Amino acid sequence: MTETDDFTIIWNETLNQIRSEMDEQEFVTWFNLEFQKADEKEFTIAVPSLFYQDQVKKRYQAYIEGKIEELIGKHVSLNLVIKPRTEPVSPPVAETSANESLQAVKEAVKPKKNKHNQLRDDYNFDTYVVGENNSFAANAAQAIARNPGTAYNPFLIYGGVGLGKTHLMQAIGNYIHANSDSKVIYITAETFLNEFTNTFGTVMTGEGAKAAFKNKYRYADILLIDDIHILQNKPQTQEELFYTFNALYDANKQMVFTCDRPVSDLKNFNERLRSRVGRGLNVDLQPPNYETRCAILRKKADTSGITIPDDVIDLVSKNISTNIRDLESALNTLTAYARLVGKTVTLEIAQQRLKDVFASPRQSNISIEIIQRVTAEKYHLSPNDLKGKKRTQSIVYPRQLAMFICREITEYTTTEIGQDFGGRDHTTVMYSCQRIENQIRNDPTVDSTVQSLIRDIKDYSVKS
Ligand code: ADP
Ligand code: MG
Repeated sequence: MTETDDFTIIWNETLNQIRSEMDEQEFVTWFNLEFQKADEKEFTIAVPSLFYQDQVKKRYQAYIEGKIEELIGKHVSLNLVIKPRTEPVSPPVAETSANESLQAVKEAVKPKKNKHNQLRDDYNFDTYVVGENNSFAANAAQAIARNPGTAYNPFLIYGGVGLGKTHLMQAIGNYIHANSDSKVIYITAETFLNEFTNTFGTVMTGEGAKAAFKNKYRYADILLIDDIHILQNKPQTQEELFYTFNALYDANKQMVFTCDRPVSDLKNFNERLRSRVGRGLNVDLQPPNYETRCAILRKKADTSGITIPDDVIDLVSKNISTNIRDLESALNTLTAYARLVGKTVTLEIAQQRLKDVFASPRQSNISIEIIQRVTAEKYHLSPNDLKGKKRTQSIVYPRQLAMFICREITEYTTTEIGQDFGGRDHTTVMYSCQRIENQIRNDPTVDSTVQSLIRDIKDYSVKS
């Protein structure tokens, strides 16, 4: 069978399926379409006139592209060319053998089952170290990967930066991709937002492109959306996601989201979407304890084929407790050095190489109490104001600053920080940190305020 035969079969099957879904009159009117040629990216189809081309584009292009995608598992675009003709092409009727050949074609056209092009293949369950900080989330993720769309839908993983949300989410995607024919779509909320804005934010975009955007996500069997907190304050994108959510939910398609905080703490977020995500399984990731940090480092060292002695693992795990991303970057520093000089990393080398990382305020042992005292003093408040419930702006801002600095320069978890700030929830701490981060991004004076406060805090802690 030639390639053209393959694609003709796909095209005929596409028309058959469309015909079965559509009113016969409509089909006869608008599917006078003649296959010309195709490759894995584009199907060229002839239409009888400019008007016809225009109408098909508007009404059906995205729908047809979606149908083809369902059949062959990848996106192709439809190129409509004009070819006047006298005889209408009658749509083919499925032959008995067509389904068999179609199966063969699907096999042939299907991208080889190695890698999913949106997922990192090293983000899988085998490389994910399970400790008490993440065991519930990891077990749930595995259960979902084995049985998507059934018990835990949607699944929300939330927690601070560098704690393994993206890794776990992609592990679900990789597992399903490797073990089934399901169509897995991974997208960051940021990309979703940008695509949405580009498609709907301009009057120039045709209906076809809009439909294509909607269809793209509604055809997913598994939809993974990373970092949905990005969608705060974006009501239209939230609404589009809400519709996508409903379409997929009704069809029992698995959805997984990640977020830097529980959905209840999202601000300016569509209430219906919030409550639907909230009704799924929501689990959080906490920073790993010392044992888990050691296990992660050992695993990563093994994977990269570098020998790291136990005392070095111990040194790094003791000194870096913020998150897994920081652990990884310390290890990368060591492995890069080891490769460069062709030597095993000794304790002395590790101490030397990571001196600055360990000494950075982020990893030192400044107490929450000192941070509160110095921050309060700067703003002419008492530490109790920072711990109290008052919500006047003159107190809220220093309180958020102090929480942010705790998160930046101490080893305390958000739960511990929350406790020391009058028993607040760890999500409040996460939210405060996010606020300050945003302000730093938009206003350089906030950054210098933070830096000068950190210096004062360090000076104070050295003196005391
Ligand atoms: P987040 O999305 O929460 O910011 P990531 O998933 O990007 O965090 O994780 C940061 C880095 O740490 C990644 O390289 C990831 O592979 C690694 N990582 C996180 N958790 C684990 C874990 N439990 N075991 C092994 N590696 C982990
Ligand atoms: Mg992430």
